[in-house]
Amino acid sequence: MPSPPIHPTRRAALRRRLLAWWDAGHRDLPWRFAEGAADPYRVWLSEVMLQQTRVETAIPYYHRFLERWPTLRALAEARDEDVFAAWSGLGYYARCRNLLAAARAARARHGTLPSSLAALRELPGFGPYTVGAVASIAFGIPAAAVDGNAARVLARLFAVRGDPAGAGQERVWTLARELAGEGAAEARAGDWTQVLIELGACVCGRSPGCARCPVEALCEARRRGLERQLPAPRRRPAPRKMLLACALIERRGRVLLERRPPGGLFAGLLALPCAEVPEGQAPEGVLAPALARAGLQVAVGAEMGAAVRQLTHRTLTLVAYACRPEKPSVLREGPRWRWIGWEELGSAGLPTAMVALLGGLQRKIVRDPRVALAFSARLV
Ligand code: SF4
Repeated sequence: MPSPPIHPTRRAALRRRLLAWWDAGHRDLPWRFAEGAADPYRVWLSEVMLQQTRVETAIPYYHRFLERWPTLRALAEARDEDVFAAWSGLGYYARCRNLLAAARAARARHGTLPSSLAALRELPGFGPYTVGAVASIAFGIPAAAVDGNAARVLARLFAVRGDPAGAGQERVWTLARELAGEGAAEARAGDWTQVLIELGACVCGRSPGCARCPVEALCEARRRGLERQLPAPRRRPAPRKMLLACALIERRGRVLLERRPPGGLFAGLLALPCAEVPEGQAPEGVLAPALARAGLQVAVGAEMGAAVRQLTHRTLTLVAYACRPEKPSVLREGPRWRWIGWEELGSAGLPTAMVALLGGLQRKIVRDPRVALAFSARLV
């Protein structure tokens, strides 16, 4: 049975109190604008950067991007590798790929970021959250935008039992649409989207601060004493383990990198030439044939180091092997192969897992002269 709509009196009280709380003071973040004065490109850029990323981490990236690509047009005309390099360290590179693809699509189709829900939905990487956030904050269109913070707040305010990212998702989005006034001429659309997120970030966090909450008297979870039980914890499948054997091929202080294909792991990024190792197989035995299929014949030498990265859905272990090319002529620079100096590796737009692996190797090589010697002796 569908849940009844929010009582108009309660809806009005929630909006009034929360917007008054917003007006009384909120965090001064670089991508915040007065209602009606937003720069859509900046709003969108911040929303993409903030997905899966903390505010403090995103701020310097946001400033650097705007300095280099101050407009959507500038970003649409940027070279892929420059944008990936600037994104380096933020992780979740699919966001960066979509950012570029959407900038180019928006420029080609509309000249700029479009201001309708339907046109925004057609852009690459614009899921329901991004559409709602950009429509409301940038263009003042009443639209729901439920990120993790808003979902937690709504689940508690209305005592939604199911996981807001699973069984409770539909209910939470329905509530968000009603509160936002989707399809109506509700004022202050951008402030409303932001205040729900702000309340979740600053008051109604994992450990809720109900005593200082502006809507404590209207909160169903608080009334029933469920504020610490809700929302229901998310059930995530155990992360899949993945082992990658990586080839470390060095020549005169530069390392050979491969531009990854457009789909799959590290799609489109520069990375050490590598191969996934099926369970039960020896990495050295997998690496050489896999690289040979890509046209790179190598002799695989000693293990040089490893790094482990925990991603959302997988635990990634990278192991680097010193490799010697058997046909050096194939190692010319080209669209697929690049030689990059050690000192540039940190800013070349490599996946974070590769940066961790190479950073460890670099430190090891510099710190331990015996390793450095053995390292150079094994390589070209
Ligand atoms: Fe969250 Fe507590 Fe406020 Fe309810 S009263 S919205 S649980 S902080």
